Amino acid sequence: MSSPIRVVIIGRPNVGKSTLFNRLYGKRRALVHDEPGVTRDRLEERTEWWLHGQVFPVALVDTGGVGGDRFAVEIEKQVKIAVEQADIVLFVLDSKVGVTPLDEDLFRELNRSGVVKKTPVLAIVNKVDAELHEDRIHEFYSLGMEQVLTVSAEHGRGMDDLKRDILERFEGRGIDQPIEEDELIEAEVETEVETEVETETEVEDDLSKRIPRVAIVGKPNVGKSTLLNAILGENRMITSPIAGTTVDSVDSLAQLGGKTYLFVDTAGIRRKSKTEQGVEVLSVVQTRKALEKADLAILVLDGEQGITDQDEKIGGLIEEVGCSVILLMNKWDTQRKNEGFTKELAAEKIRKKMAYLRYAPIVFASALRSQGLEDLESLIEEILHQRQLKIPTHDFTEWVRKESTIHNPMNAKFYLSHQSGRHPPTFVCHVSDPDKVHFSLRRHFVNALRERWGYMGSPVRMLFVEVKSKRRLPRKKKV
Ligand code: GDP
Ligand code: GDP
Repeated sequence: MSSPIRVVIIGRPNVGKSTLFNRLYGKRRALVHDEPGVTRDRLEERTEWWLHGQVFPVALVDTGGVGGDRFAVEIEKQVKIAVEQADIVLFVLDSKVGVTPLDEDLFRELNRSGVVKKTPVLAIVNKVDAELHEDRIHEFYSLGMEQVLTVSAEHGRGMDDLKRDILERFEGRGIDQPIEEDELIEAEVETEVETEVETETEVEDDLSKRIPRVAIVGKPNVGKSTLLNAILGENRMITSPIAGTTVDSVDSLAQLGGKTYLFVDTAGIRRKSKTEQGVEVLSVVQTRKALEKADLAILVLDGEQGITDQDEKIGGLIEEVGCSVILLMNKWDTQRKNEGFTKELAAEKIRKKMAYLRYAPIVFASALRSQGLEDLESLIEEILHQRQLKIPTHDFTEWVRKESTIHNPMNAKFYLSHQSGRHPPTFVCHVSDPDKVHFSLRRHFVNALRERWGYMGSPVRMLFVEVKSKRRLPRKKKV
């Protein structure tokens, strides 16, 4: 048995250390308390994590919390444990509060003790229950840790990515398991049941473990309801195939190409907003609500009318919220004989008006006649599959370096880079000076990223952050 990877969790009181500990451990052990300042001893538990068919023994250490005005003593204790025991340190921060002087004190001590030089220290920004604004991430980078990951310990978000990020640094410590992938999944499910992990929220981050959500959006009268009915047709399901999953009555479940999807907020489509004159208006609030719930949006456009300001507005909302998108040019039956308005010309117009959604595939269809919808199933499946990709840190860092030698007009120097999230795909690159990242270099990165990994239909976010300490790369993968 190889020695366990020692993961030490530190942070000031009430940031969610013990909640994170429980998540990573998979069982309820440490006392979680709402009152800051409740004393508890240092806690250590052994567990096992899996990666690429290997099992990794892990020792999780929660450094506890004394809190209050005794935090100086606490810092000393936490840093001592980190110095003596850690293979890797998880420095937990609170996204809702931001960086506090106590966080700064603790990080300063870690630096002074030499831990930061010898051990990887990851900033775990906790309590990101919904999407964290990009500006906020910069605040946490300002502390100077080599990597910032956003999680919600309470809801189990980001746990798989965090474990993978840790294990990829210790490839040599894994033990081969001659078990098939399918058996592995089963084994994991069993442990979850056994340990009563809250599976409903745990799976939130992983599209392969929950039903993906699709929203049909568009201005009034473009044919959203007609499209929904055409898609649902005989595919509609009354009950969820997953026991215990309750389906909101305004949402519809459907099975397409052997996969189940939830079409969200269909009542929002049907309950049309009207002005006093009885004219339908675009409900931006309803649309945004549906988009925030969705993994993928189908933006319905009117082939008879062409693109209007309202379409552009919804397109902008989609980009802002960050879900994946398909542009569906509906009512194309009305244009079949219009030789002046070909598909190519229509696509060109869409691209011009909605340049910010240039990554979205365009489908020409007639919802009324159920025409042109044949490819929709496979398109939805492929887009969500690509959205799910997680690029290993080592590969991504190497790739950024390579691409920056191809085009780099201001000679920016790149260090560690990694994928910080999947919904939407978000990447953070450490760079000598973010001002040297010329807009053409940014564009080159995004284009090259799509060429290499696709991410069809999904927005890609790239953040460039000034490197504080020029840290080494993670260990090279052995495979
Ligand atoms: P510790 O003192 O650092 O060990 O923090 P705890 O784990 O005891 O958590 C402190 C409080 O934060 C508790 O009320 C938790 O329920 C809450 N908390 C922990 N993680 C999250 C999270 O991801 N989101 C939210 N909203 N609250 C959280
Ligand atoms: P919603 O307001 O976006 O939900 O739009 P509806 O689904 O209620 O459709 C508005 C009108 O457009 C109805 O009269 C539909 O019959 C018509 N419509 C919807 N899809 C098509 C289509 O593909 N071709 C044509 N010609 N008319 C359509």
